[in-house]
Amino acid sequence: MDVATRDGSQEHLPDAAVTELMYRLRGSLVTAEDPAAAAEPCEVWNAMHADRPAVSARCSGTADVVDAVNFARDHGLLLAVRGGGHSVAGFSTARDGMLVDLSAMRGVQVDPDRRLVRVQAGALLGDVDRETQAFGLATPLGRVSETGVAGLTLGGGYGHLQNRHGLSCDNVVAAQVVCADGTIRTASAGTHPDLYWAIRGGGGNFGIVTSFTFRLHPLGPVVAFAGTFYPLEDLADVERRWRDHVVSTPDAVTSFIVTMTFPAAPGMPDVVHDRPVAIVGGVYSGNPDEGMRVMQPLRELGTPLFDMSQPMPYSVVQAALDPIFPRRTLRAYWKSQYLDELTDDAVDAIAGRALDRPAPQTLVNTFHIGGAVHAVGPEETAFAERSSPFMVSVDTMWTDPAQDASAIAWGRAAWEELGKFGNGNVFLNFTGLADEPVQAGVDSAFGRNLRRLGQIKAVYDPENLFQVNNNIVPTP
Ligand SMILES: Cc1cc2nc3c(=O)[nH]c(=O)nc-3n(C[C@H](O)[C@H](O)[C@H](O)COP(=O)(O)OP(=O)(O)OC[C@H]3O[C@@H](n4cnc5c(N)ncnc54)[C@H](O)[C@@H]3O)c2cc1C
Repeated sequence: MDVATRDGSQEHLPDAAVTELMYRLRGSLVTAEDPAAAAEPCEVWNAMHADRPAVSARCSGTADVVDAVNFARDHGLLLAVRGGGHSVAGFSTARDGMLVDLSAMRGVQVDPDRRLVRVQAGALLGDVDRETQAFGLATPLGRVSETGVAGLTLGGGYGHLQNRHGLSCDNVVAAQVVCADGTIRTASAGTHPDLYWAIRGGGGNFGIVTSFTFRLHPLGPVVAFAGTFYPLEDLADVERRWRDHVVSTPDAVTSFIVTMTFPAAPGMPDVVHDRPVAIVGGVYSGNPDEGMRVMQPLRELGTPLFDMSQPMPYSVVQAALDPIFPRRTLRAYWKSQYLDELTDDAVDAIAGRALDRPAPQTLVNTFHIGGAVHAVGPEETAFAERSSPFMVSVDTMWTDPAQDASAIAWGRAAWEELGKFGNGNVFLNFTGLADEPVQAGVDSAFGRNLRRLGQIKAVYDPENLFQVNNNIVPTP
């Protein structure tokens, strides 16, 4: 079998080598030559990047990951790693290369006494929330429950609890990592602290994380949720009032504005069906009654079309946006800009783009960031962006492959226009395309941490085995 290599050529793998790896794995080894595998859907979220690997190691545990890493390294193979498969840029697969697929590793073990949860690296956010909420606990994760814990956490991880409890990566107390030499290392404050620092924001550059241990916080089961639908035409006024309000809200509030054409979803009123809307959202990490009172102003930023704000189970809030992001259906190109200030001109530009989206599925979002995210210094973890109060994300999404070029062009133009108001930094988990030049983004996102990251990369992955990601080049 011919498999793509890291130097861009093809390696012929003898059948005996493939068979040996197949027998070693407790999970399974699937090749593109296997008709049953070819008939399966490619389990990546972004339908635009459903390229098949030549060989996939579907690992059942850390030992399988070690064997797969050794195999890929010894044969010089192009290697991708898949946690939840939600990479927007297409890093969840390697065309004709090798894939380490962690999707069978979804175990979650809560230690309520120590307020810790150990999570295997193929777990989805909903797997973790399900188990931790059984104990009235939570760790900060993202806003769509089907997203993978691993990629989200390694790249930072924003979500509904961020302003109170920090990024997902800020709550990692330890991780088990299989590095490029096949060695299993524990990264924590006390063991391999350089690796521990690097994996908190540096992405999958340093090895394959097989499990994370996260800190837990008391939460729920019910939280205060704000979800107020305003007409999209009113966005500029609503967003100005929102901006003026959120900068002085307590850290327990994490708020955002999503703009979209709302689908004709069952259970939702006709007035929002197929209607362009701006949804002002917010979650309060604390007492639900107090939260509803504190977030009341988010519900009075204009004349709502519909208001679904109410105390809700946290697990329901965590899955509320899932229907907007179905797997394997949407084609996607996402870009972001951090803003030091959300000026009136910036709001007008955001509103202009939100009214001019190329497809109903496309979103233009603004997130308020503060509190615990800003309390961590830019050099304390690899995640350097610790001061911007706002991030705008242009989530260009569509379904028709014929629209790929025009939709991407729209997304890029919108991002460039909004960049006039940005501070030059971008969020790397919202990287547009893998094969467009990301180096500028990598440089700006890691800032002054890039040099140290390059040095740590040289220690743990000197040959750049882990390169299907926002890549950090080893720099001894
Ligand atoms: C619908 C949707 C909603 C999102 N919502 C949020 C959000 O609320 N907040 C937020 O911050 N981000 C969000 N994101 C962005 C998300 O964080 C990234 O797409 C993230 O990379 C997804 O992780 P994954 O494990 O699902 O992806 P994958 O495609 O499996 O992996 C993404 C990257 O991480 C690497 N990786 C994955 N697992 C491992 C591992 N175990 N060890 C080493 N490297 C690994 C991969 O090599 C790849 O480079 C969202 C994305 C989507 C598509």
